[in-house]
Amino acid sequence: MADLVAEEQSLKIYFIPFLAYGHMIPLCDIARLFSSRGHHVTIITTVANAETLNNSISNHFHIHTIPFPSQQVGLPHGIEIVSVSEDSISNKVFHAAMLLKEPIELFIEENPPDCIVADFLYPWVDDLANKFHIPRLAFNGFPLFSVCAFDSFYANPNLDDNHDSYVIKDFPHVITMKDTPPKEVYTFLEQMRKTELKSYGLIVNNIAEIDGEEYIQHYEKTTRHKAWHLGPASLVLKSDEEKVERGQKNVVSVHECLTWLNSKPVNSVLYICFGSLCHFPDKQLYEIACGVEASGHGFIWVVPEKKGKENESNEEKEKWLPKGFEERNKMKGMIIKGWAPQVLILNHSAIGAFLTHCGWNSTTEAISAGVPLITWPLHSEQFYNEKLITQVRGIGIEVGAEVWNSSGSWKTDKLVGRDQIEKVVKRLMEDGDEAKQIRNRAHEFGEKARQALQQGGSSYNNLTALIDNLICLRDQNFLGRF
Ligand code: UDP
Repeated sequence: MADLVAEEQSLKIYFIPFLAYGHMIPLCDIARLFSSRGHHVTIITTVANAETLNNSISNHFHIHTIPFPSQQVGLPHGIEIVSVSEDSISNKVFHAAMLLKEPIELFIEENPPDCIVADFLYPWVDDLANKFHIPRLAFNGFPLFSVCAFDSFYANPNLDDNHDSYVIKDFPHVITMKDTPPKEVYTFLEQMRKTELKSYGLIVNNIAEIDGEEYIQHYEKTTRHKAWHLGPASLVLKSDEEKVERGQKNVVSVHECLTWLNSKPVNSVLYICFGSLCHFPDKQLYEIACGVEASGHGFIWVVPEKKGKENESNEEKEKWLPKGFEERNKMKGMIIKGWAPQVLILNHSAIGAFLTHCGWNSTTEAISAGVPLITWPLHSEQFYNEKLITQVRGIGIEVGAEVWNSSGSWKTDKLVGRDQIEKVVKRLMEDGDEAKQIRNRAHEFGEKARQALQQGGSSYNNLTALIDNLICLRDQNFLGRF
C-alpha cells in the first residue's frame, strides 16, 4: 500500500505543462504520481488540450482550463499544441504559450497552491512564483546526463569550427561528439536554463540508475541545485486503457494492433517511431522503407501525417514508398499513418527493438518495457541522450545520424542511407553476442525501472522525500505569516 497522505496534510500542487506532446504527456504522468499519494494536483492548460486529459479526472486530479489566444496569434480554432506541422504554426503556438502568463497569474492569485511545477519553457513562472512566495519546481524533460552535457557546452561553447569530433569537457565519462547544437538552439536553451536554476529543484523523468550516481553528484556539485529522479513516469499507467489514451487519438484500433502483434514471435518485430514532432522528407522515408525491407525483419512503422498533407493521392504516396512495398510486406509489416498507441506496442513481447529519435519520453517508455534501442537522434538534447543510451548504459546501438537539426523538421540533405539502416537492424534483431548483451542489459534496466516506482524503490523514495520537503516548506511558510 502506497504512503497515502492524510487529507488535512495533503498538498495542493499546480502543474503547468508546455503545449507539446513530449512535454504535456510526461508532466501529466508526474502529476499522477503525486495524486496517487493523495495530494491534490491541478493541471493548468488550454481548453483543447484539457479534452485529451479528461479521462484522468479523479478526486485528486483536477484540470483548470484557460482560453488559448487563437486570435491574438493568428491560429485557427483548435490548434493549441506543437506537433508535426509547419514551423510557422509551431512558432505561433510558442508565442501563445508566452501569453498564458496573465490568465494563470489571475488564477494563482485567487487560489494560491503550495507548490508550482512548471515546464522550463515558461520562464515567466519564476516571476509569478516569487511574487506569490510559492515554491517552484522546474521540469525540462531531459535526463540529467543531457542537462549536464548542455551545461558543459554552455561553459565551453567556443569549439573550433573545423573539428571532426570533440570530447565533452569536465564530464564523468569520456564522451566524444561529432556535431554541436546549432547556435540558435543552445543560446535559447541557455536562457531557459538560467531561469530553471533559480527554481527550488528540477524534476527528472528518469530513474537514478540510468543517469547514474556520478551524474547526480556532478550535477549537485557543479550547480548546487537539487535534482529529483521520479521516473519513468509512464509506469504510473496501469491499465491498457490508460496506456492507450495519451496525446492524440490513435489511428489504429488497439484490437487490430494487438491481434497483429499476437500473431508474431517474441522479439521479432522492430518498432519505428520518431516522436510527435518529426516529419522526414520523402527521400528519407524511402531509404527507411528500403533498409527495413532489406533487413527481412517484421516491423511496425509510425509515419505521422503532416498538417495539410491529409489528402495525399496514391501517386504522391509512391514518392516515399518503393513500388509494391505495402503489398509485399502485408504479412511482415504494419505502417501506422498517424498517432500510434506507443506504450502499449512497446510492452508487447513481439517487439524486439525500437528505432527511435531518442526523444526522452520514447526512450524511458522503451527502457521501462526492457526494449533495446536503435538510436537516430535529430534535434534538441537527443544527441546527448543517444550517448547515454549507447556508450554509457549499453542498451542500444547508433544508426549513425550526424546532423543536429534545429527543430523537428528536417533541415539537411544528408540522409541516413538504406545500407546503414539494414546493417544496424540486423545487428540488433539477430542473435549475435553483441545483440544478446544489449538485450540482456535492456531487460535488466527494465526490471530496475519497474522496481524504482514500487514502494521502497529509488523513484518511490525520491517522491516521498520531495513530498516531505514540500510539506515542511508549506508549514514553515504558514508559520512565517504569523
Ligand atoms: N507518442 C505516441 N504515439 C505516437 C507518437 C508519439 O504515443 O504515434 C508519444 C510517445 O509515447 C511519447 C511522446 O508521444 O510519450 C513523444 O515524446 P518524445 O519525448 O519521445 O518525443 P517528441 O515528440 O518530444 O520529439
